[in-house]
Amino acid sequence: MQPTTPSVPLDFLGELRRTHSCGDLRAHDSGHRALLMGWVHRRRDLGGVIFIHLRDREGVTQCVFHEDALPEVHAKAEMLRPEYVVAVEGQVERRSPETVNPNLPTGEIELVVDKVWILNESRTPPFPMEDHVDVSEEARLKYRYVDLRRPRMQRNIILRSKISFAVREALYQQGFLEIETPFLTRSTPEGARDYLVPCRVQPGTFYALPQSPQIFKQLLMISGYEKYFQIVRCFRDEDLRADRQPEFTQIDLEMAFPQQDRIFETIEPLIQSVLKVIGRTIDTPFLRLTYDQAIRMYGIDKPDLRLPPFHVVNDLFGPEANLTAAGMPLVAVHIPKTGQLSRKERDELKAYGQERGLRVYDDAKRLERDFPEPMAAVRKRLDAAEDDLILLCGVGEPPQGQRPEEQVFKACGQLRLFAGQKYNDRHKLLDPTVFRFLWVVDFPMFEWDEEENRWMAAHHPFTSVLDEHIDKLTDDPAGCRAKSYDLVLNGVELGSGSIRIHRRDVQSKVFSALGFSDDEARRRFGFLLDALEYGAPPHGGIALGLDRLVMILVGETSIRDVIPFPKTAKGTDMMSDAPSPIPDRQMRELGIAFRK
Ligand code: ASP
Repeated sequence: MQPTTPSVPLDFLGELRRTHSCGDLRAHDSGHRALLMGWVHRRRDLGGVIFIHLRDREGVTQCVFHEDALPEVHAKAEMLRPEYVVAVEGQVERRSPETVNPNLPTGEIELVVDKVWILNESRTPPFPMEDHVDVSEEARLKYRYVDLRRPRMQRNIILRSKISFAVREALYQQGFLEIETPFLTRSTPEGARDYLVPCRVQPGTFYALPQSPQIFKQLLMISGYEKYFQIVRCFRDEDLRADRQPEFTQIDLEMAFPQQDRIFETIEPLIQSVLKVIGRTIDTPFLRLTYDQAIRMYGIDKPDLRLPPFHVVNDLFGPEANLTAAGMPLVAVHIPKTGQLSRKERDELKAYGQERGLRVYDDAKRLERDFPEPMAAVRKRLDAAEDDLILLCGVGEPPQGQRPEEQVFKACGQLRLFAGQKYNDRHKLLDPTVFRFLWVVDFPMFEWDEEENRWMAAHHPFTSVLDEHIDKLTDDPAGCRAKSYDLVLNGVELGSGSIRIHRRDVQSKVFSALGFSDDEARRRFGFLLDALEYGAPPHGGIALGLDRLVMILVGETSIRDVIPFPKTAKGTDMMSDAPSPIPDRQMRELGIAFRK
């Protein structure tokens, strides 16, 4: 690389020391001296006077250079350009009333500079340091160090740090210990693909990066640490979506001797502390719904409570109405305040429902004519106003496959969200500053895997079954409910957890219900199975996604905006250009070859 010569004479930091941050100074500081350091945010040259907005993490302060008072200092200020790094010293002065800037916390004062040090220059930044820049995300990610300087990103990352601190504080207060677990380990049971790391000293062997610390935190309970937590990176090689990253951060915890309620009593105050960081309060306990209730009311296991539930209304019509197949639900989907929708809008909603197997009755007027009394009762049940949208949904035939009723509810749930989101802009139904938390409990123990044609663990295979459902493990896997729970915020699953299996005999039963042979179970999780035989206490825990939590609380819609160095949907780090090919020499050392 060519050594470049600075285009302006640069000064050394020497022993210079800041007296204040750029966000500190107020009217009562006027008359005092101050030394500030930071980046040139903006520069205005009015001939004999130059104004600089100097920016650091804490804020922006206006600095003034007068040519007539100190020509050499003013001359130096003439050299400054955006993003130059400078130190300035001078006297704090009150601004005259007409020049006060009400948009800056420091807007009542300015620093009249009598000394300036240029500590570094900067190339013209690829985009301006403003909150809303009209640049591609690619450019932002490539110049992430510049992007992260923008006030909005600084606010996000700083809030993230404060939220992490609040989490630590809340958990330490409740007696949790922060304990690290390995990154170079074996496959964990979350069911995604593993990221693998070849082991050089044992050719042909690989570590897996943990999809979560699940097994280790259970082992820590068996080892008697009683309350563990970690704010920890997890790695899952999944197809990436907008709200997914190959590495992401969890607030992971586990405790000994808990009932589900003990876990909730731990998490709810933690969420309260976190909300305090953004100046919000929230009532506890959070609403709880069983999985079955959530499906019957919202058609989804992570309901967005900002929209009203739908209602089953078969009873109001009677079978002769023939609006849905026998035995299948007739569901009234209700979206408030949409106003009268056009034919085209209703056709779109109808088509969306039809693609999901629903028969959608979208014409409220017609329904009201054909079924005046039932429809009046529907309105009453929904508590619907004149300008609310009501869609009745049924099916022509029961859907094929497992849990047909549930499939109908799920389709209605999708339609509810689609319609709600569609008319959100007009009516602010989904206000991002409203936070609606809830617990969803008693999830199904198993999910049917069409491809593999077998039951899979819905959470992970160490999850306990409800005490009263132990016999269903083999007799009725579809009806078997687990001691597992999700924390949901505004339709986003923030985290999941469960009470674990602590008995070896029960764990074997679950493995066999999952179709794991003893050998396979031994091979994958043998060390945990052994540990269960050495005095494992009842235990359970949960993990919350920190990235998503921060995203929602700071009002962003992409987790990339709350992760300092995220990856694109293809898993690329645009800045460092990872992943990258490795030199042949390294491949040889690792004893691996690339097969085209
Ligand atoms: N390890 C689980 C997960 O990452 C969470 C838990 O059960 O604690 O989803």
